[in-house]
Amino acid sequence: MEDCLFCKIINKEIPSSAVYEDDGVFAFNDINPQAPVHILIVPKEHIASTEDLNENNSAVIGRLALTASKIAKDMKLEGYRLVINCNEIAGQSVFHIHCHLLGGRPMAWPPG
Ligand code: 5GP
Ligand code: ZN
Repeated sequence: MEDCLFCKIINKEIPSSAVYEDDGVFAFNDINPQAPVHILIVPKEHIASTEDLNENNSAVIGRLALTASKIAKDMKLEGYRLVINCNEIAGQSVFHIHCHLLGGRPMAWPPG
């Protein structure tokens, strides 16, 4: 999608530090990491947020979670947190659905 930051990153129009790529998913290091490991996992299909999921496209969430699991195993993370923010009030700033994979330090609960 035009004017979408993450579509541009997926299409390599904007450089990123890639971690994983397959036919449906791209993963790269967050530019402003909130933990020693902070990876963004995005579907190549442009979907703005979880509000835009439907019966036809919701399988992408499974692919994001599976990718996170593979990356975490490869990195031998003891544990990790997956976060998907939906809408500005919950902290979403880029409107191309993405999963944050956070790890490498203890995680507090409740989150901020
Ligand atoms: P959100 O706030 O939408 O849940 O997450 C967006 C994330 O994208 C933020 O953690 C932010 O640091 C990250 N981000 C924003 N712009 C860029 C960029 O140009 N490159 C990379 N690698 N990450 C970005
Ligand atoms: Zn996009």
